[in-house]
Amino acid sequence: SKQGKVAIVGSGLIGQNWSMIFAGAGYHVTLYDTDMDQLMRAKTSIKSTLEQYERDGYLRGKTTAVQQNALVSTSSSLSECLSDAFYVQECVPENLELKKKVFKEMDTMANKDMILASSSSCLCASMFTEGLTHKSNMLVAHPINPPYFIPLVELVPAPWTNQELVTRVRTLMEEIGQSPITLRRESLGFALNRIQYAAINESWNMYQSGLLSAEDIDRVCHDGLGLRYAFIGPLETMHLNANGIADYCERYAEGAYNVQKETFKPVPVMYDVETAMKVQEEFSQTMPLDKLAERRSWRDKRLAEISKLKKTL
Ligand code: NAD
Repeated sequence: SKQGKVAIVGSGLIGQNWSMIFAGAGYHVTLYDTDMDQLMRAKTSIKSTLEQYERDGYLRGKTTAVQQNALVSTSSSLSECLSDAFYVQECVPENLELKKKVFKEMDTMANKDMILASSSSCLCASMFTEGLTHKSNMLVAHPINPPYFIPLVELVPAPWTNQELVTRVRTLMEEIGQSPITLRRESLGFALNRIQYAAINESWNMYQSGLLSAEDIDRVCHDGLGLRYAFIGPLETMHLNANGIADYCERYAEGAYNVQKETFKPVPVMYDVETAMKVQEEFSQTMPLDKLAERRSWRDKRLAEISKLKKTL
């Protein structure tokens, strides 16, 4: 295995995913949780998931599931978990007071070379690292669910995060098979949710106005934009759909502006219960609430297959 140990703090869904990703890349991983039963369940689940991925052909890296599982150990002590780790990935629940508490504790165990990253989806590092001794070594590294199959990681430094350290985390993420992006400063929603919320807003607006069904709105993405977006983003789309993006703007800016002026509503869009219940009613035909777990497995299987295919293209 590689030199170097990674500490994972919090052994829920995201902590388990990071553990498997780092073990797949050959790192020793120590997983910690305050809930001992959960920690044991996580260890069992990592073992069986790695074996399942091996059978399905989804396992990362060049080693076997047994070898990767052997790299993952657990600890009931935070200081033991962090001891000798060069990288810490915090994965405790999204709660500001809890993140503050955990980072304050980890700060007392850190050293000047230790990198401490948070998986936080919404909270910015400046909200929970201010005043800490090692705050320049702390940042957000936000994964996307399920991180084993969706490689994007949003790196979001606090104003005091060491820039050179951000570069090192970016290199590390690439090395373990993730796909990092770097925000130059903190911004609510980071990047993915800003794009996602724009898509949700227009979906909501179209549904509310009765323009088309919920199923058809979603189809615009999974049989339309989504196929394109698996390879090129909105900006490259502009670049390729004309003779370069400047030409695109010359040709289509006015048309796009008119569409937005005519159809977009003022933001923010509040998701109202009435519309939500209507969409849910429509979904209940094919995806009633008691079948969501099944549907999530269906989704994860497809994400696994597409991520496998993408690596071969
Ligand atoms: P989870 O509830 O599945 O797991 C959290 C784990 O942290 C639990 O096992 C809990 O026992 C443990 N924990 C609680 N307090 C602790 C402490 N003081 N020290 C150590 N462990 C502690 O949550 P999750 O879905 O894995 O999310 C973890 C983080 O990742 C959150 O910040 C979340 O916003 C972020 N995230 C989640 C997703 C997602 O889709 N679930 C996606 C990206 C990022």
